[in-house]
Amino acid sequence: MANRIPRVPVREQDPAVRATNFEEVCYGYNSEEAQLEASRCLNCRNPRCVGSCPVHIDIPGFIRQMVDGNYAEASTIISADSSLPSVCGRVCPQETQCEGSCVLGIKGEPVAIGKLERFVGDWAIDHADELPRPEIKRNGKRVAIVGSGPAGLACASDLARAGYDVTIFEALHAVGGVLVYGIPEFRLPKERIVAKEVEAVKRLGVKVETDVIIGRTMTVDDLLDKEGFDAVFVGSGAGLPRFMGIEGENLNGVFSANEFLTRANLMHAYDSHYDTPIYTGHKAVVVGGGNVAMDAVRTARRLGAESVIVYRRSEAELPARVEEVHHAKEEGIEFKMLTNPVKILSDDKGWVKGIECVEMELGEPDESGRRSPIVKEGSNFTIDCDVVIMALGTSPNPLIKSTTKGLDTTRRGCIVADEEGRTTRKGVFAGGDAVTGAATVILAMGAGRKAAKAIQEYLSE
Ligand SMILES: Cc1cc2nc3c(=O)[nH]c(=O)nc-3n(C[C@H](O)[C@H](O)[C@H](O)COP(=O)(O)OP(=O)(O)OC[C@H]3O[C@@H](n4cnc5c(N)ncnc54)[C@H](O)[C@@H]3O)c2cc1C
Ligand code: SF4
Repeated sequence: MANRIPRVPVREQDPAVRATNFEEVCYGYNSEEAQLEASRCLNCRNPRCVGSCPVHIDIPGFIRQMVDGNYAEASTIISADSSLPSVCGRVCPQETQCEGSCVLGIKGEPVAIGKLERFVGDWAIDHADELPRPEIKRNGKRVAIVGSGPAGLACASDLARAGYDVTIFEALHAVGGVLVYGIPEFRLPKERIVAKEVEAVKRLGVKVETDVIIGRTMTVDDLLDKEGFDAVFVGSGAGLPRFMGIEGENLNGVFSANEFLTRANLMHAYDSHYDTPIYTGHKAVVVGGGNVAMDAVRTARRLGAESVIVYRRSEAELPARVEEVHHAKEEGIEFKMLTNPVKILSDDKGWVKGIECVEMELGEPDESGRRSPIVKEGSNFTIDCDVVIMALGTSPNPLIKSTTKGLDTTRRGCIVADEEGRTTRKGVFAGGDAVTGAATVILAMGAGRKAAKAIQEYLSE
């Protein structure tokens, strides 16, 4: 029976080797492995995996095509719901979504849906010229998209397929949002994967203007009133880092994870062909437990620093993807759980020389459902280090709000929008991290797709 076959393991770079380079950690399946893994799927009549996918990809549908090696058909099925399969196959938290609901996971190992999606996405990149191009009838209506992250790209591709004339305005010189400036090369290759999936979006007719900051170069009002756009989608993300507000955060050697990762990824500081400065010292302490913290600590490790995660709850509460925590441990990252910084210590020249922490214990669950950390009085201790990287979450930048008439935001600076992305300003829609605060790639894509539907309804009224 299909489900007696054990889950096909995926090949990865050796931990000791990869901890010193920026090449991709996971090699993915080859065709033979992918077909074998696909054959494990039971093709359930009521597939629980689909219900747990935020963009409802027809998972058994594409997997069924893979069994016989019909990868073009598998790709067509996925692309009906997702424009970034190679990205999502690599970075989605499958263990809490599709794979977390797979019926095979009840008694054994779920189907490796993420690795199969990645295989199909990569196959489509390598065979882009052979894939059918959708016939698109243009309707003459124009939509502006602010931001080229997953929310903007998903909204743009759905609208372009439906015949709209779409232009993305991106503040940075590169397209992809967090996919290019945040998530490191060793998890998500930029040229080989992100740029290729962006090219596929452009092939649908989407135009992209980089180095345009909406709110500075021109405003959302300008787009609607002067530039002739019929609607605007704001997918500007949540790029504003938070800090703890503790003593010593302004010392030399303290970074936000955003700055540290942007230097490393977008500005190629890891690559000896570039002059971008980056400082990791001998020992880097990264504060936080999410994907951003794992990316920062593994980047610091690859740049040669002894690297430590400091997190105030226990391992069970770590919000990062299980795979990232596992990879970080394999690469020799030290995890100091139930630990919270109280002060960053300075040498006599204003540089970091250590971080003072307290031990924590877990109390009653808080409103997030997780047990809240409580300080163990008198437990203060010091970790010697010369770099501290804060990975404590981010909020949306206030620029769009402050330059757009009638656009309401919440107390935390998130744009107020309904389930379909309609904001308080007529003709302006929003989705992704700009609305929810820092979340995930697939949720941002789902929000972009819902807003694309609402924009079509609005423009056909
Ligand atoms: C380091 C890191 C690791 C992560 N790892 C994962 C992971 O493993 N799995 C996962 O699912 N999620 C992960 N996430 C979260 C995920 O990347 C985000 O939730 C997702 O990218 C949000 O998409 P978005 O389109 O809303 O915003 P973004 O990806 O942030 O894109 C917004 C874009 O808008 C542009 N922009 C902002 N303001 C303006 C303006 N005024 N004018 C023009 N352009 C503007 C920005 O430059 C940016 O390119 C990670 C995030 C980070 C930072
Ligand atoms: S729940 Fe698992 S076995 Fe069933 S269709 Fe989805 S992937 Fe296949």
